[in-house]
Amino acid sequence: MTEESLTFEDKEIAYFLISDIDKLKSYLLKKIKGAKEDKVGNIHYVKGRGKILVTAHLDTVFSPPKKVYYSYTSDKKLKYSGEINPIGADDRAGCWALYKHIKETDKDFYAIFTVGEETGGYGAQNAVFDKKYDFQYIVSLDRYGANNVCFYDIATEEFRRDVLALGFEETFGGFTDACVFAERFNVCGVNVSVGYMQAHTSSEYLIVDDLKDSIYKHMKIFSLNKKYVYDYYDDIYMYGKYRKDYYDFKAYYDFWAKYDKYLGKEYRYQEKY
Ligand SMILES: [Zn+2]
Repeated sequence: MTEESLTFEDKEIAYFLISDIDKLKSYLLKKIKGAKEDKVGNIHYVKGRGKILVTAHLDTVFSPPKKVYYSYTSDKKLKYSGEINPIGADDRAGCWALYKHIKETDKDFYAIFTVGEETGGYGAQNAVFDKKYDFQYIVSLDRYGANNVCFYDIATEEFRRDVLALGFEETFGGFTDACVFAERFNVCGVNVSVGYMQAHTSSEYLIVDDLKDSIYKHMKIFSLNKKYVYDYYDDIYMYGKYRKDYYDFKAYYDFWAKYDKYLGKEYRYQEKY
């Protein structure tokens, strides 16, 4: 195993891992013609009409590693790992996948590389869109493993069934940007594997070959091509008991009020609040 056996893609993936956030942003803005940074630091790019929203986050919990170490798994897959700190494959792996989709697939989607996911979705909450989009559903490329999906509480039974029918394994988790965007756009969302394992720990690693293969798996989800509405507004009233106490509800209301104002609409929840 020598460094010469690494392909351009392998090296590019390592570059995504070791670059600090500003350097990676400059790279993306340079390489993706028409990509734009919004005022909170997210990078946006519309491919085609932007039918679905696809996200990956640029921020990582620790600063990027100086270098990544490569090795091979017992089934001969290329693997990147680090020394003391996590290598930030959560979610630089997702960023690379999103970049790859922009460069090489012919799907119709809106790409957003966010900031602030690891600190509660700041970038997603404040992301500024240049016009009103009618997304069919949201896909985050921010999940560990090779073939799993996570729906949080942002999927209808129909969406869940349609995604799982594509051959993914369902896993359960806490949060990703899809959770914020799904509620912002009143549609379903899902998070899907991009090859990393043991994120946020010193033994984090990335199976590079799983990341590269994940591109084809994501495309199956992109091909659903149907709008999956999820009415979060109804959900509040129907499931108010478990969903939120007063303070949560107020924060939720304030968030939507701000969002609706941004869209130039009336506050939708005024009369019921
Ligand atoms: Zn993540």
